[in-house]
Amino acid sequence: MICVSIGRSRHKHMLAEHAHLVEQGAELVELRLDYISSRVNIQRLLKDRPCATVITVRREQDGGKFTGSEDARLMMLREAIANGVEYVDLEDDIAGKIPRFGKTKRIISYHNFRNTPDNLREVHDRMKALDADIVKIATMANQPHDDLRVLEMMQESDCPTIGMCMGDIGTPSRILGPKFGAPFTYATFHHERALAPGQLSYDQMVNVFRHNNINSKSAVYGVVADPVGHSLSPQIHNAAFGAAGIDAVYVPFRVPFDVLGQFVEDVPRLGIKGLSVTIPHKEAISKFLTKVDPAVKGIGAVNTVLFKGEEVLGYNTDYKAAMDCLEHALGGAVLPGQTSPLQDKKVLVLGAGGVSRAVMYGLQRRGAKVTIASRTKQRAQYLADTFGGKCIEWAARHVPADIIVNCTPVGMHPNVDESPFNKSNLKPTMVVFDTVYNPESTLLLKEARSHGCRVVTGVEMFIRQAALQFLLFTGQEASEPLMRETLKRAIGPVKY
Ligand code: NAP
Repeated sequence: MICVSIGRSRHKHMLAEHAHLVEQGAELVELRLDYISSRVNIQRLLKDRPCATVITVRREQDGGKFTGSEDARLMMLREAIANGVEYVDLEDDIAGKIPRFGKTKRIISYHNFRNTPDNLREVHDRMKALDADIVKIATMANQPHDDLRVLEMMQESDCPTIGMCMGDIGTPSRILGPKFGAPFTYATFHHERALAPGQLSYDQMVNVFRHNNINSKSAVYGVVADPVGHSLSPQIHNAAFGAAGIDAVYVPFRVPFDVLGQFVEDVPRLGIKGLSVTIPHKEAISKFLTKVDPAVKGIGAVNTVLFKGEEVLGYNTDYKAAMDCLEHALGGAVLPGQTSPLQDKKVLVLGAGGVSRAVMYGLQRRGAKVTIASRTKQRAQYLADTFGGKCIEWAARHVPADIIVNCTPVGMHPNVDESPFNKSNLKPTMVVFDTVYNPESTLLLKEARSHGCRVVTGVEMFIRQAALQFLLFTGQEASEPLMRETLKRAIGPVKY
């Protein structure tokens, strides 16, 4: 179950949001009285409440907004209990001052905005001893291992406990609560109005993470990156799990570079079966793998990891996705043993980073004639030496080509008015592939279309690599149309 926190300065907005949430299916709501800027009228808020309610009056020192006297705060909590509210939230230092009364259940809460203390179990036992119906422990995650400690504390507890970590490193602990026995977890009314750092919205919890379906047996997948907040992979993988009826959840794991090893060690205890891997871990993850597919060896980068018993298997779906997209644009899928339509094509690759490596590897194996240009020439030269091809100066990049592949971020949101290739050099016979997927229709692609070129979008590559990951994760084909529709909705409207 999800408890949605509402913090509004006016009673009428709080009441309206409460009613709206219940229409959306919410079963439990927390009213944060500390957000109300006028004199609080508890009876008005509780009289016709449409669902079970938690009353909380958080002080500034505990991350709230209440600045009045402690006597006034205790009075509000007692009044809520006298009005028969379903739950009150009491911090540990005031729990002894507010006696149990009627049917109101007591959530005894502990907040730590600095860290997740080593003595979590002691803290838990102390809260439990304060006549708790539910213990709530919210601590700051400074590293992903903190999430695991809080989740396991909750799982091993002998009284109903909600454990969660704050901050974006803590997001997995909010999503995985039901897997580790949380009676409910907290979400916010709107994603732009989080009441605690790292809190997700009710809409994200229900519609992206399918939180109401998560249970102790749900398999865990995710993306490991730093930063991870911008990743759209959770949206498309969770949508695909839902459509396929698979009991699994896909979680964004923000893992700083220096603690990747600890995170990999924690994988079995978190129930993780597979991961998408992205910046900055694509190369560093290699040292934890027991087996890799040939493409990983060739490219030197991993974007997918599977955990199967003792085996940790590494794959790269980026290269296959990029080649499938290009071959499709050139006339369709290539069957094993057939010659690729890319053979002998003159391909200009722009950029020399991670995506270029995958593209260069694929083009080399398909017999294309590659020219590469990048802002930092040494990086382009290195890729030309490694995969074959000619390296030219960035300033000299407008050479004749059958295919152009942009592997730089030029044209990516918010710099949507930039293009890495001058439109006067575009020819109608060209295929232009922009790996940038946000926006889908970059300036380069718009200009290519208006010059009569065939185009391949970064969205197609992104969907293809995700579908290949999904196949590795589950052994099942993903619904690509659903993934595409979900991704396009997440990116926003296409402007041609
Ligand atoms: P990366 O490793 O950081 O490499 C970026 C390359 O672009 C570098 O060679 C860099 O040159 C060059 N570059 C950056 N800014 C530039 C500028 N203003 N002008 C000219 N060159 C510039 O990044 P990556 O992982 O390869 O990703 C590149 C792009 O691919 C991303 O921005 C993303 O849009 C796209 N992408 C798409 C997918 C997909 O599935 N569709 C997946 C991943 C990435 P220097 O060496 O001089 O810095």
